[in-house]
Amino acid sequence: MNRVLGIKDSGQPGPLIILLGAVHGNETTGVHAIINVFRSLEEWNLPFRGKIIGLVGNTKAYEMGERFLDYDLNRCWDEEFVHKLRTEHDPANEQAEDFELLELLGEIEKHDNGKYSTKVLVDLHATSSDNGNFIVIPDDEADNVIVKSLQLPIIIDLEKHLEGTLMEFLHKRGFVAFAFEGGLIGSDRALNLHTSGIWELLYAAEVLERQHDHEFSRYDQIIESFIHALPHKVSVLHRHRISGQDGFRMDPGYHNFQEVKKGEHLAVNNEGGIFAACDGLIFMPLYQKQGDDGFFIVKEIEGRI
Ligand SMILES: [Zn+2]
Repeated sequence: MNRVLGIKDSGQPGPLIILLGAVHGNETTGVHAIINVFRSLEEWNLPFRGKIIGLVGNTKAYEMGERFLDYDLNRCWDEEFVHKLRTEHDPANEQAEDFELLELLGEIEKHDNGKYSTKVLVDLHATSSDNGNFIVIPDDEADNVIVKSLQLPIIIDLEKHLEGTLMEFLHKRGFVAFAFEGGLIGSDRALNLHTSGIWELLYAAEVLERQHDHEFSRYDQIIESFIHALPHKVSVLHRHRISGQDGFRMDPGYHNFQEVKKGEHLAVNNEGGIFAACDGLIFMPLYQKQGDDGFFIVKEIEGRI
């Protein structure tokens, strides 16, 4: 499939907004949301500033409906690794994600030419457990107006526990880069949240004038029903790392931000039971076969007012 879903260049000064879907190939709602937004931009011919790009992250994994093929495309972003791939490229030993990484980065670099007032990377994901509506961003960007416009729980320090995310890599290259988790993989709610969330952040970034009384402005209505039950800002206390071989199975029924107590039985693996290391809120419990993280435990550091 084509990596580029859309490019809209106003020719006017303003921000560069890169919308990225399916860095994890089975998280397809981001791609559909980006297609929806580009279609409406064309249809309505709305005036805008700056440049908007829509990209697919892992095209091959997307076609296969898998999170990844050889390695996780959101755990490999490291300048040294990228340099090595570029300089010591060995087609005989190429892994599927080597190609994805190089082509995706090439596409991003093509537009990152120093002309823009702000550079924003919106990395659209979905989760395998319910209530997966949140933003992941480094702490120093947590107050960014674009991020705040989405009003979702903000996870400020996941990058201390996860190495090689694209978000962190582009943050170091001067992007306001964040993961926007829309909800359960393949759900209508995730698609609606991603679609309306993209409009909301385009307004907040002042790329577009808000279209009042229009379906593009219904973000507040969409989040209204669940937002008050979610924390505002959380910090990560614990990561339960797994390897593909250890037989990890999460106990059924956990959803994001559900309270857990120290010592609570959460999962099993080949060694036996896995228990909560501390009190807190469970975060990203894994209910799919691929992934390195069984679950996290987080704590609320700022409540919703
Ligand atoms: Zn993901």
